[in-house]
Parts: sequence; structure tokens; C-alpha cells
Amino acid sequence: MQSIRSLIRDVADFPKPGIVFRDITPLLADAGGFARCIDALAEPWQGSGVQAVCGIESRGFIFGAALAQKLHAGFVPLRKPGKLPPPLVSVDYQLEYGSDRLQARSDALRPGERALIVDDVLATGGTLDAARSLVERLGGELVGASVLIELADLGGRARWQGPARLHALLSY
Ligand code: AMP
Repeated sequence: MQSIRSLIRDVADFPKPGIVFRDITPLLADAGGFARCIDALAEPWQGSGVQAVCGIESRGFIFGAALAQKLHAGFVPLRKPGKLPPPLVSVDYQLEYGSDRLQARSDALRPGERALIVDDVLATGGTLDAARSLVERLGGELVGASVLIELADLGGRARWQGPARLHALLSY
């Protein structure tokens, strides 16, 4: 896992003072590192019958689409407002300042379809929690969630409710 960690660049004070931004673009640019990362993200979910990987816009699309291929599952984009045509299902959630919204096509999941949520970073957990609500409202069966990086000090894991498993490849 060290080699994957060494391909993530820490950028201090971005996008605002006090935030250490975890930049995953060096990892994406490294053919071997990216392949190992997708293998490692997929490993805990092999044999769990995932049918749909739900990636959160936008970096969750990159990992989620590759993971969907690896798990022989479909890919469902959970998008920011204004990107998808109707009919839609929406979930609003709170950010540090203000609120945001995640949307999916209202028929994005079949009833009971086994869904895995994917994002790059788990910080305060609000985004992942909104994605969980969206999968539930779409009628999917939540298998779990997968993130590349968990920022453990921010306590996002505590917001992850219910029995579905939350897997993080790297913890900071
Ligand atoms: P949160 O809802 O607080 O868990 O924030 C998670 C979302 O914000 C993810 O979609 C991440 O892409 C992004 N994010 C939060 N903190 C960081 C960080 N330090 N570096 C990179 N992305 C971050």
C-alpha cells in the first residue's frame, strides 16, 4: 500500500487555508500504481454480488468506473445538480458552508439491485451519507461503500449508518 500512498500528493492550504488537499492525479498518471489501486479497491468486494457501482461526481467517477469493470458490474453516476436530464431523484445535504445536492436518474437502479458507492476521499462523511440516502431512495440494496482515502480525524465514519460495510484503502 506504501507505493499507492507515495503517489498521492499533499497540497497545503488548497482549496482554502487550513485544508490539506489529497491530490490523486499522480496516482492516476502512474499505470502500475493505478492498476494496483483498482485491484486493492476491488478485493474486499469480490464475491459479494455487486451489480452496480455508484460513483460520486467527479473523482468518484474515475475510481468507480474502473472498479465497475473489475467487478463486472454496471456504473451509475451520482451527479451534481444541473447535469442529468429528468426524471431524477435528488438528495440535499449540508456542507460546512451552505448545502449541495446529489442526483441520479430515477430508474438508475433496478429494485433490489446490489449497489456499491465509491468516492476518492471520506472527510466529514456528508457526501457519502447523501449517496447512501440516494441509493436507498432509488430502491437499491446497499452492499457498502469504498473510498481510496479516509481522513480519520474528521470522523466521517461515524456518520455511516447501518450494517453496510465501509472500506477505506488508506487512512490519514
Ligand atoms: P465530506 O462530505 O466532508 O466527506 O467530503 C468528501 C468529498 O469532498 C469527497 O467527494 C472529496 O472528493 C472531497 N474532499 C474533502 N476533503 C478533501 C481533501 N482533503 N482532499 C481532497 N478531496 C477532499
